[in-house]
Amino acid sequence: MKLQADVVIVGAGIIGLCTAMQITKRSSLSVVVVEQSRSLGEGSSGASSAVCRHRYSYNEMLLLARDGINAYRHWPEFIEAAQPLAQFQNEGVLWLADMGDSWASSESRRLEEAGIRSSILDAEQLKDRFPALNPCSLTPDTRSGEAHDCNEGAPYLLEIDGGYFDPVNALQDLSSATRKKGVTIKFLSKIKKVLVQAGKTVGVQFADGSSIEAPHVINATGPWCNDVFDQLELDLSWSLKPTRIQVLHLDRPAELTGALPVCCDMVGGIYFRTQNRGQQIILGSTLEEDEQEVVANPSDYAQTIEDDFMHAKLHALHHRIPSLPYRGTVNGYCGLYTVNRQDVHPIVGRTQIEGFYVANGFSGHGFKLAPAIGSMLAQEITGEICDFDTGVPPAFLSIDRIPLQLDSKNVLA
Ligand SMILES: Cc1cc2nc3c(=O)[nH]c(=O)nc-3n(C[C@H](O)[C@H](O)[C@H](O)COP(=O)(O)OP(=O)(O)OC[C@H]3O[C@@H](n4cnc5c(N)ncnc54)[C@H](O)[C@@H]3O)c2cc1C
Repeated sequence: MKLQADVVIVGAGIIGLCTAMQITKRSSLSVVVVEQSRSLGEGSSGASSAVCRHRYSYNEMLLLARDGINAYRHWPEFIEAAQPLAQFQNEGVLWLADMGDSWASSESRRLEEAGIRSSILDAEQLKDRFPALNPCSLTPDTRSGEAHDCNEGAPYLLEIDGGYFDPVNALQDLSSATRKKGVTIKFLSKIKKVLVQAGKTVGVQFADGSSIEAPHVINATGPWCNDVFDQLELDLSWSLKPTRIQVLHLDRPAELTGALPVCCDMVGGIYFRTQNRGQQIILGSTLEEDEQEVVANPSDYAQTIEDDFMHAKLHALHHRIPSLPYRGTVNGYCGLYTVNRQDVHPIVGRTQIEGFYVANGFSGHGFKLAPAIGSMLAQEITGEICDFDTGVPPAFLSIDRIPLQLDSKNVLA
């Protein structure tokens, strides 16, 4: 018997599953998600820090982040389930930047204009609200590890509506919710190629020669995206590179009391947030230099944390949280960003091949954007709109756009 579907989504990461959810929210198209792994979360999404911040350099990205995070903030309504596993952690996102006196207020205005609540804190207000945090605006010397005399800086921006999500529970929730709406998710189903006839997509083929016929296929394969592109005659000018990313985690010591928001510490080159009901801290880099290690095979890359990375990031964390004791075990793990080397922003939407869509190159942004990216694709495929949609025009991330102009190509771009 020939398998058929209206839409095949290749990849059951956060992008693929949010897209399946968004399609089924507005149409009765039949959707099959094919996934090479035996379970959820084995790609970028499972390793994601899932920080949900809104501030981006481009207003369109800020709106996509708003619309994506809105789904996480209203998760039961989005996935149409009364008791999901995942819950939005609305801890706020604090920006510690050394960008001059007016930066926080102008960024706050941009957020407010998009309906995202924020406030500006001076150093005293910051210490009152988050007593563990040092408001210093001087960059710590992570190479020598030497201390400096700390200096209070310009006002700080707090995204009141920001926070984080649990990526693995989110995937689990989406899997249950989409199945309930009739989506088939096929595990251990690695596609070998997308089938194209006379410039039109006609399905996908697996290694054993079996296939699924479908007029719409979405490449949501995360760091493996080039395996799919390599099979196609597609004029792809983007350089999308699977890139190894290191993340540390440590138990939160008893000494560290009081609220701790998600911190984007642009001064120290780190971000950190709590997890497991505040009992742990996870810590990653915001520096472009830490997003350079391209891996040849996304299924096989080094999993160990490098000592230099660990020491540098811990030094920056101690600078920001001086009460953090120098004891306890620090662990870590690695995941993959798919970095778009031209402008660290994704490509999304239709391609020159009719019926073939891309959703690739998300760098460190894809988790928060996923429900909005799913909305963009669902609108393109079905022509229908519904709740939890984004109004950002598809041209902004289209495959034939020109690279965005950015001051710095790091994860906070
Ligand atoms: C350490 C780390 C921290 C991050 N932190 C943040 C953050 O704080 N905030 C944020 O917004 N984003 C963050 N990101 C980025 C975000 O997690 C990714 O952009 C997002 O998860 C990408 O999702 P995806 O669905 O495209 O890819 P994936 O999750 O990798 O999913 C792709 C899926 O496709 C499957 N697949 C691949 N090839 C095939 C094939 N041929 N056939 C069938 N299946 C296939 C894979 O097995 C995989 O399950 C982080 C990422 C990492 C690694």
